[in-house]
Amino acid sequence: MQDLYAVFGAILGLLVGSFLNVVVHRLPRMMERQWKRECADLCGTALPDEPPLNLMTPRSRCPHCGHQIVWYENVPVVSYLFLRGRCAQCKAPISVRYPVVELASSALFYFCIGNWGLTYTAFAWCVFCAALLVLALIDWDTTLLPDSITLPLLWLGLIAASLRWTSVGLPESLWGSIAGYGSLWTIYWAFKLSTGKEGMGYGDFKLFAALGAWFGWPLLVPLILIASVSGAVVGIGMKFTSGLREGGYVPFGPFLACAGFAAILLGPDRLRSFVLI
Ligand SMILES: [Zn+2]
Repeated sequence: MQDLYAVFGAILGLLVGSFLNVVVHRLPRMMERQWKRECADLCGTALPDEPPLNLMTPRSRCPHCGHQIVWYENVPVVSYLFLRGRCAQCKAPISVRYPVVELASSALFYFCIGNWGLTYTAFAWCVFCAALLVLALIDWDTTLLPDSITLPLLWLGLIAASLRWTSVGLPESLWGSIAGYGSLWTIYWAFKLSTGKEGMGYGDFKLFAALGAWFGWPLLVPLILIASVSGAVVGIGMKFTSGLREGGYVPFGPFLACAGFAAILLGPDRLRSFVLI
């Protein structure tokens, strides 16, 4: 039965992954529009009318030719393979990232539902994985970590602990979120006051607070070690391959997310032994 659950998880993960691609693509644009509207309201200027943009509207289109994507061109992974990674109309290449995100989501859901069955625990961890995947990609693309995802993720971690969906007690979860936020906030200000530079953003504090809520305070040190080491390795690698973007900035959110994935896949005990604590 557990195998059947895992297969169900893999299929569900593919479908959710397809939606996550939409969120990653549209949410930063929706936020930008909102900021523009707020600025215009504040300044009393008028903005030109724009067609509606949310997670449901408009229907997905090819960014090159505007071809509206029909349902059979939108089947996760399968359509990409069938179309050989090209638009059905103009043959412009489709980013390989779409099927990769769908496969990653599928693998994570397969793991969670295969591990915990059809339980609240499994679904809570599926939501956690989906949120982490979206945050990692949006932060990588735009250096933004939207409050509309980090804050509900933090609340959900506390709720999951209080309902015993996760194996973390509520006090560990609560102190995990407080210490997670407080530790990075302290580092941020120490770094800013001593160098005048900003080493990370407030979104990083909120994401680390969320990880603290889901895994509890005892796992904060292993999590931050994994995030910092993997971030440093990738940052140095990008420097040597001239892959760094303007300003030499590497967002920290994707590495916090990687630490979160490592904690789920390895489990708390193996994670601690992995970083020799
Ligand atoms: Zn096209």
